[in-house]
Amino acid sequence: MKITMAHGSGGKSTSELIDNIFKKANSNPVLDMMEDSAVVDGFKTIAITTDSFVVTPMFFNGGDIGRLSVCGTVNDLLMRGAVPKYITSAYIIEEGADTDDLEKIAESMSQTAKEAGVTLVCGDTKVIEGKCGIYINTTGVGFVENGIDIKSANCKAGDKVIVSGNLGDHHATILSSRMGISNSIKSDNAPLNEMVLGLIKNNIGVHAMRDITRGGLGTVLNELSSASGYGFLINEEDLPVSEAVKGFCEILGLNIMHMGNEGKMVAIVDSEDANKALQIIKSSKYGENARIIGTVTDDNGVIMNTKIGGKRIITELFGEGLPRIC
Ligand code: MG
Repeated sequence: MKITMAHGSGGKSTSELIDNIFKKANSNPVLDMMEDSAVVDGFKTIAITTDSFVVTPMFFNGGDIGRLSVCGTVNDLLMRGAVPKYITSAYIIEEGADTDDLEKIAESMSQTAKEAGVTLVCGDTKVIEGKCGIYINTTGVGFVENGIDIKSANCKAGDKVIVSGNLGDHHATILSSRMGISNSIKSDNAPLNEMVLGLIKNNIGVHAMRDITRGGLGTVLNELSSASGYGFLINEEDLPVSEAVKGFCEILGLNIMHMGNEGKMVAIVDSEDANKALQIIKSSKYGENARIIGTVTDDNGVIMNTKIGGKRIITELFGEGLPRIC
């Protein structure tokens, strides 16, 4: 069935759409009340984040916009040391979109929310004129335990820089799909609960964490440098990159430092805890390729020791990267 403007009317067609697709995919006591707002248990300190997802294509190797819309928001909560609890979903659907696609996306969202331990507590749908697209906004709420203070400004000289796995996978997947290139590259879109909560449970001295999304590792490290006033020295030979993505970047002349992921993070950790942190991440789901890639320094900006023995300044991404990657 195709979505029509009537599905956005707020009347009978809207409630049928909600019943047949969204309620079928997501049901829990809070959501099922269908009240004007969700009333849920709270906590003293909470983390809140919101993000909109407009990725094209909506379905890609290894994931889809539904999974992505949960992972992106959950990971942003985790990066502050919050335990993700609640998520909302607002769909903007263009006329002509297929309800089969919508069903798959809602189901994928539901599965990913289960995996990430978040309860979907409220949602909205709007239908607009357009070209059959589907867009999702999610807002997430997480609980921050007493004493947890993880933020970019906390990086200190001597800290170790850990990357949780192979760089560029999501970016290369989306670009391959848009260019009609078929290869084995899969999106890494994933919720990082296990590795992050593992670090916190084990009292690792985590000073800062950032998920590596649009703009890539180069942009994230430059942001960490600006926020903390410290520099970053990283080693090119320690960067985890799959052979397939490495080859893909070489052919297209792409810089892996500016390629985005959707299930990877960089953690800035007290040097004394770095090896233990690496082991925790490596033994967690989605962390098997984690590496220590460098150190926080007294300088400013981001410098890379290159494979051929030189030094290169790594800037943030300037201008337009690949649009609609998430
Ligand atoms: Mg983020």
